[in-house]
Amino acid sequence: MSAPHLRAKAMSEVMSRRPRHSEPPSLKISDFFGSSVFNEDAMRMFLTEDAYYAVRQAIHQGQRIERKLADQVASGMKEWASSKGATHYTHWFQPLTGLSAEKHDAFFEPIGGGRSIERFDGSMLVQQEPDASSFPNGGIRNTFEARGYTAWDPSSPAFIMGRTLCIPTIFISYTGEALDYKMPLLRAIHAIDKAATTVCQYFDKDVNKVIATLGWEQEYFLIDEALYHARPDIMMTGRALFGHSPAKGQQLEDHYFGAIPERAQAFMRDFETEALKLGIPVKTRHNEVAPNQFECAPVFEELNLAVDHNVLLMDVMERTARKHDFRVLLHEKPFAGVNGSGKHNNWSLATSTGKNLLKPMKTPKENLQFLTFFINTIKAIHSHADVLRASIASANNDHRLGANEAPPAIISVFIGDHLGKLLDELERDIKGKMTAEAKTELKLNIGRIPQIMLDNTDRNRTSPFAFTGNKFEFRAVGSSANCAGPMTVLNTIVAKQLNDFAKEVDGMIKKGVKKDDAILQVLRDLIVSSKSIRFEGNGYGDEWVKEAEKRGLSNIKDTPRALDVWSRKETMKLFGEMDVLSAVELEARHEIELHSYMLKIQIESRVCGDLAQNHIVPTAITYQNRLIENVRGLRDVLGVEKAKKAAATQVKLIEEMSDHIGSIMTLTEDMIEARKKANGIEESRAKAIAYCDTVKPYLDQIRNHSDKLELLVDDELWQLPKLREVLFTR
Ligand code: ADP
Ligand code: MG
Repeated sequence: MSAPHLRAKAMSEVMSRRPRHSEPPSLKISDFFGSSVFNEDAMRMFLTEDAYYAVRQAIHQGQRIERKLADQVASGMKEWASSKGATHYTHWFQPLTGLSAEKHDAFFEPIGGGRSIERFDGSMLVQQEPDASSFPNGGIRNTFEARGYTAWDPSSPAFIMGRTLCIPTIFISYTGEALDYKMPLLRAIHAIDKAATTVCQYFDKDVNKVIATLGWEQEYFLIDEALYHARPDIMMTGRALFGHSPAKGQQLEDHYFGAIPERAQAFMRDFETEALKLGIPVKTRHNEVAPNQFECAPVFEELNLAVDHNVLLMDVMERTARKHDFRVLLHEKPFAGVNGSGKHNNWSLATSTGKNLLKPMKTPKENLQFLTFFINTIKAIHSHADVLRASIASANNDHRLGANEAPPAIISVFIGDHLGKLLDELERDIKGKMTAEAKTELKLNIGRIPQIMLDNTDRNRTSPFAFTGNKFEFRAVGSSANCAGPMTVLNTIVAKQLNDFAKEVDGMIKKGVKKDDAILQVLRDLIVSSKSIRFEGNGYGDEWVKEAEKRGLSNIKDTPRALDVWSRKETMKLFGEMDVLSAVELEARHEIELHSYMLKIQIESRVCGDLAQNHIVPTAITYQNRLIENVRGLRDVLGVEKAKKAAATQVKLIEEMSDHIGSIMTLTEDMIEARKKANGIEESRAKAIAYCDTVKPYLDQIRNHSDKLELLVDDELWQLPKLREVLFTR
């Protein structure tokens, strides 16, 4: 063959790899944990007392920092960063596509006469104008003819990456609209604080603040860089558009078993060290789920910080992987037929008095508080399931939810047997008016929430939203997603529900009902009205799809349709009332997400077409020609009659291959036509739907024929690394 054999070359590269071990700065993690973060210790060392106090006030009370103090903070930050070898600074932000963005500036500034100084003052810290024209804005800036700027978010500490001081910021337009993930998240954090603190007052007057907590679990695939480069589909789209599923048990037969775990472990140790330096509290845990799939989970943190840490971790993982000749795949479904990747969002609420509001307690009074937050959360999901569904919708995640593989895209809540029974009892007990006796009994019951639930023995792994003992776990979030999206929605809807709850309870108290009775009665109504969202069975089964339909629950299968909820009147009212997203911001987000969906499918379709026409079909034809030569040869040697029998298999193969080649060519042409037609559509929603309904189906169909060819063509000729190699080469 004249062309270099890509697959063989890649495989031989993989074979020659050795693990790249690197030593952590110290064996004791506490020696270097947070050493790249401008944290409390660093602030105390590098800030004046006034500046330190101002930053703390900003973090804890959300107070503004005066310009003079901002100068002092900037100067201290610069001193600290320089002492760590940083030469540049950047405003770090999270635009609505991509993970994070930054624009680097040097501290260094020439002052004439061949001299220079290192400069970084309050104005540079507090606000910047990135060249924002390349970030998506959903039309906001066109409408208002305003540019965007980044503004310092003191509630997330500055950190150093490489030689750059990174300052966490929000990204907003000059007219104040959010252009990023962080601004709405901060507003939602404020909303849940206000609402939950108010409700806490029924139980504990000492609570003056409630913070949302998040512990994410990040799943990812790790594949060798050489194989990654030899698979243009994986390289350009993050997932394999082609490739026959590896036969079962393949991993046991593989020759190379043993090498990757060591290389992967060297990579993990390395990225964990980097993460720990950045103050990300990763605990060493990387259980493998699918082949070459791993997971990393830190200890939970305050929501805003946890979101930043997840974005940072994804970045650190990708950077570190390259040093180890790996590539990290954060795509939700890189390989059909094996597990996809998610990012479980473990969520709870913690009070300023140090209590977890979703942890069942021993005394009846404390448990009434637990039940209040527990039941209101369930009710919030019930009332706003479609918004929650939209918050996790993406082209990638569509392969994990509601596609031909489980689970379906139905939002439901799992709470386990014990709590399920408890809610059923509550519902029965409080029917009508309560006698004093019944009340006491009820309170005793609430007091007796069995401890068993605290261990997670009866966990249901198939539920998209599960209560797991002392927190809810939102499992439908995609592995590549920014947690801020779903967390903004979750906290907003729970805040809204808590507000409604307080309004009702207060109303009853005003009418003379005793506080605890009022709470119990409202809770009972909520249990009844939210019952349809509770599901304890197998969320992956077909019966559930039917049952959910009967219950009137939505099952929205694709992203463009899931996103419709952003432009519903009720959604605008909800987010407006909670001061989280204005109608303009919602519309912009809707627009951006539709556009980004369309682009994803468009790229996949182009890559698929190119590979089919330039790689797969030519390879198949080469092999087919060999077969044809073989048949001719047999005829020459044996004569036409005898060759009929001797060449029967080859002839059949030739025909079979012709069918697949023909189908691939026709389908590819049809797909290109469908794309052209879709591209002619102006309106974003219609265009995204055209891509979803008329372009996307070709991807699977073309793949199907190609995967059949992969099995027919001589292994030696096949140029694209096979999935068994990508997934199992070790
Ligand atoms: P697993 O789900 O694998 O059994 P755990 O139950 O220990 O693991 O917890 C999973 C994640 O939940 C971890 O990241 C942990 O930090 C987080 N978590 C635990 N408690 C809370 C909480 N109160 N709020 C938010 N996240 C929490
Ligand atoms: Mg989990």
